[in-house]
Amino acid sequence: MSQAKDIKLMDNGVRIDGRKPDELRPVQMEIGVLKNAHGSAFVQWGKNKVLAGVYGPREMHPKRLASPTEATVRVTYNMAPFSVDDRKRPGPDRRSVEISKISSEALASVVETHLFPNTAIDVFIEILQADAGTRCVGLAAASLALADAGIPMRDLVVACAAGKAGGEIILDLGKEEDNLGEADVPLAISPRTGKVLLLQMDGQLSNEEFDRAFDLAWGGCMKIYEQMKETLVSKEVQE
Ligand code: ADP
Repeated sequence: MSQAKDIKLMDNGVRIDGRKPDELRPVQMEIGVLKNAHGSAFVQWGKNKVLAGVYGPREMHPKRLASPTEATVRVTYNMAPFSVDDRKRPGPDRRSVEISKISSEALASVVETHLFPNTAIDVFIEILQADAGTRCVGLAAASLALADAGIPMRDLVVACAAGKAGGEIILDLGKEEDNLGEADVPLAISPRTGKVLLLQMDGQLSNEEFDRAFDLAWGGCMKIYEQMKETLVSKEVQE
């Protein structure tokens, strides 16, 4: 992350996209969007557009990967070739393998996996349009899709990033802030238990700046959590 001199990421407390430092991008969520998945969700978060589909619990293939004591949560995070400015080469790369792994671990920690031994719960996260923060958006969509599938969970996984751009600590970095800013700190939490499920950092922050970014990301997670709960409740009311 390096600051390009000709782009001003922060101007008198106003960000390049007009947001305040502690403001999230607009977020819209919908569940039950796919007929053939057991559960599904579509999340639009800023310019990110992310679809998640869940299948399972179902018999694990190959069988040797099954755990006799619990379900295995398998996440496949995939960026569509048309999701970014330049066409992305289709198929898995190191980044998508990493995001799939960390997302599996975060989601597995809230699913009641012990109820479904020998099975797989497959979660597909499809990034249709990417504009920074897709791992957080993917986790929100996956969490909603798992809930939509009726899979018992202790909590929802909620994620949001904070970081530093233009010299200021900011919430929910946009694409320019992510590319040209000083630091990005994606955080995923379980709000009910108050546990941190994922914490990454790219760039440099002082101790004090990290604390502020962490608190800001936590606050962002709680706002997203409220919206996720509302999305799930409003679907229940409709049915
Ligand atoms: P996240 O999307 O979780 O912030 P990164 O920090 O790795 O993950 O990526 C930031 C942004 O960079 C992505 O949201 C996307 O807009 C862009 N990006 C990531 N990978 C690619 C790629 N292979 N080609 C083009 N743009 C990409």
